[in-house]
Amino acid sequence: MNHVLIIGAGGVGNVVAHKCAMLPEVFGKITLASRTVSKCEAIATSVKQRTGQSITTAQVDADQPENTAELIRKTGAQLLINVALPYQDLSLMEACLSAGCHYLDTANYEPKDVAKFEYSWQWAYQERFEKAGLSALLGSGFDPGVTNVFTAWALKHHFDEIHTLDIIDVNGGSHDRPFATNFNPEINIREVTAECRHYENGRFVQSPALSHHRPFTCPDGVGTYEIYRMYHEELESLAKHIPTLRHAQFWMSFSPNYLNHLAVLGNVGMTRIDPVTFNGVEIIPLQFLKAVLPDPGDLGKSTKGRTCIGNVITGIQHGRFKAIYVSNICDHESCFAEVGSQAISYTTGVPAMIGAKQMLEGHWRKPGVWNMEQHDPDAFMNDLNHHGLPWTCVELSAEAAIALQVI
Ligand code: NDP
Repeated sequence: MNHVLIIGAGGVGNVVAHKCAMLPEVFGKITLASRTVSKCEAIATSVKQRTGQSITTAQVDADQPENTAELIRKTGAQLLINVALPYQDLSLMEACLSAGCHYLDTANYEPKDVAKFEYSWQWAYQERFEKAGLSALLGSGFDPGVTNVFTAWALKHHFDEIHTLDIIDVNGGSHDRPFATNFNPEINIREVTAECRHYENGRFVQSPALSHHRPFTCPDGVGTYEIYRMYHEELESLAKHIPTLRHAQFWMSFSPNYLNHLAVLGNVGMTRIDPVTFNGVEIIPLQFLKAVLPDPGDLGKSTKGRTCIGNVITGIQHGRFKAIYVSNICDHESCFAEVGSQAISYTTGVPAMIGAKQMLEGHWRKPGVWNMEQHDPDAFMNDLNHHGLPWTCVELSAEAAIALQVI
């Protein structure tokens, strides 16, 4: 019987636990562990009510590799699903190596004291995982995650060469709070305020954060939203693994209200990640801000509307220009009805479960450290349609693709 250990009992951990419990034939035994065990217990209660399945809970400090390794040995888990924070990636990979367990995460490693994320730290584990006969799957959320698989699937079925890629992430949802982030506020604000980078002719080009934007109309009546170009981690791995790629950009929608709040918080110093002394105690302003902002996990009950995330891809097939748009639309209220979370946690947690399923079923278990686009995409794409994230693919005319693509 397969045994999986989920680390992290936040918004995404809630979805992963529910979705794994819905597939007992794949995830025979589930342990959910996190820093605050009461959060694990609340999720376990909901899982029992909604699916009838019992899951085990535990306390763990994921910053301490030996603490997690001990838990892996105690539970006998074959696969660890890391949905804690990017800060814990390396210590959890160490724990997996120490206890002989496969590894999966949804966001690449980021040091706490520098707002910088890149794959080099995790790619450096390639040889150790390979030698140990263990597999690590990096970035199995939606973006990164599904967007990487969309690209690999497009290359397999629609193109001889991919030349351009625009990943467009629209959250057309709204909640009843004046300001909130839709996943962990600290990680979200670090990502959004970082300098933008996009890929152009073999190198990354920098521009100021959120300085390029334009409107984008989503299909199926989701609406028209202003999207902002920003750096996102899948650009790094896709530029490496798809060598014909000439131009790649990532876009995300933000409302004027969100950006106004963010600008004020930045101007007054609340998004700083260096320590300041307050009443004789050192605090990090962004960590304090996280403590007073709404918990994204609590937004589900009041969030309405839909997300629309997809890739505009152009290239050539049989010597001719071709363009496609492959995307998923996800409804916040339906997600809440199914698992008690809003669509951002849902669109991250479902691909984490599907990635874990590929690994446990043996399709994606090659020893080493892998990004999603390095595995065969077909079974994953099929599972998206069966487990809550159905996708569509439409062919675009050259004019439509160019209009959608760049500024
Ligand atoms: P939350 O902040 O809601 O949850 C994080 C959980 O991790 C919390 O339960 C927290 O515990 C726990 N945790 C943090 N540090 C430790 C530690 N040292 N030891 C044990 N547990 C710890 O985050 P989200 O659920 O919103 O996000 C989870 C992950 O998903 C993040 O890495 C995020 O970047 C990623 N993500 C990926 C996306 C994608 O599409 N690829 C999209 C959205 C998110 P406590 O409750 O005690 O604080």
